[in-house]
Amino acid sequence: MGDPFVELRNCTRCALSETRQRVVIGSGPQHPRLMVVGEAPGKNEDEGGEPFIGRSGQLLFRLIEEETGLTRVDCFVTNVVKCRPPQNRTPNAKELSACRPWIDEQLRTVSPALILAVGNTAAQSLFQTKEAMGVLHGELRTIGGVKALATYHPAAALRQGNNVVEMMRHDLATLAQELS
Ligand code: SF4
Repeated sequence: MGDPFVELRNCTRCALSETRQRVVIGSGPQHPRLMVVGEAPGKNEDEGGEPFIGRSGQLLFRLIEEETGLTRVDCFVTNVVKCRPPQNRTPNAKELSACRPWIDEQLRTVSPALILAVGNTAAQSLFQTKEAMGVLHGELRTIGGVKALATYHPAAALRQGNNVVEMMRHDLATLAQELS
């Protein structure tokens, strides 16, 4: 069987294709109980080829496991933007819009039971809103008919400490109730 992601792997729809090392597609089971969607690859992810493999990812999946019992291998993990923005800047509107068809296709084909949008950029893009994370987090909404919840990015927790961790735990506890 050929590579089903050959088109995505070679995507040049936006300028991030000129500076990335690789397209970080994401991975995990089909029809998982949870699909975790972040913002964009960072340096570690651009080098390693998988989303959330740095310190942020370790914290995120520790919290997910502690609050929901799900481990990384239970989840499909990806980002709304598949290539690393230079210096890890926030993806701009043009890049988000160029990459949107890829996440839409993944949401369709992966078909998760629940979606966790991680961080402001992922949440605003997936929910198509300008509302801030202070409003969005912890509230069950839907994306394409699938229940979805937003939480803070673990990078914010690493920068700002325990109060963000506690809010993430609270959001993930809501997710756990939906999963049970
Ligand atoms: S960020 Fe998305 S749209 Fe831009 S080149 Fe990468 S895969 Fe293509």
